[in-house]
Amino acid sequence: MRKIFESCSVVVLVLCISGQALAAPITHQLVVNPIQVCDDTGGNCANPGNILYEAETDKIWDQSGVDISFLSWKQMDNTAAQNITATSNLLVAGNQALGGNIINMWFVESYAGSYGAANSSGRRVAIGNNVFSYSSGAGRRDTIAHELGHILGLPHISGTYPLNVMESGGVRNAATAIGQIIPDGALKGQLTTAQVTTALGSSYLEAIPEPSACTLGIAGLLGMSFYTRRRRLISRRGELLPSQSRRHADRWPSALSA
Ligand SMILES: [Zn+2]
Repeated sequence: MRKIFESCSVVVLVLCISGQALAAPITHQLVVNPIQVCDDTGGNCANPGNILYEAETDKIWDQSGVDISFLSWKQMDNTAAQNITATSNLLVAGNQALGGNIINMWFVESYAGSYGAANSSGRRVAIGNNVFSYSSGAGRRDTIAHELGHILGLPHISGTYPLNVMESGGVRNAATAIGQIIPDGALKGQLTTAQVTTALGSSYLEAIPEPSACTLGIAGLLGMSFYTRRRRLISRRGELLPSQSRRHADRWPSALSA
């Protein structure tokens, strides 16, 4: 074990000196603030299940190396904002809009018969309840990804590309299950390379620094050091106490998966 550890140190040292970055699939993030719109008394809230289709949205935007990062849920009590016809209707007293590059996404009862709408310059998205009732409750699982595409500067595509996520709602072959989304199943939710280029030019994106070989190497060394400590503990005591095992299991994966 010691020999392996030493040779790994040499490899890491060489990588650190050369400054070579290892490939990382995610290069940017878009931060979204989900707001649940309820009536004036806090009842009859839209999207009562607090559904975000985060896995589906991330799977679609993985094609561009963008991670969609949702903040914690907020609630806005305003009966007038439950059924709206314009995203400007959401700019009312008591809303929870945040500044910076954060995209505010209001979940409403209805939006003018549409599934959703986006206002890029205002960083506003509205999502209707019909997104979640779609197809007997299977859900229209690419609408949030579609509206965020508008936010990132993408218009509707040709009208003849139903598998593209930026196709208009009437033409798009919408995903109703995550297994239908590219690279799986029916290959729904596609983005072209031109769309990816446009989206990556959005000023709303925050760059995520690629972990350098040095960072990864040090993390690897720390992991190996932990492994050798754990081995020592095991050989000394016979086995780890459950609490120790759980504590380490929590610590290491979260440290490496930022
Ligand atoms: Zn659209």
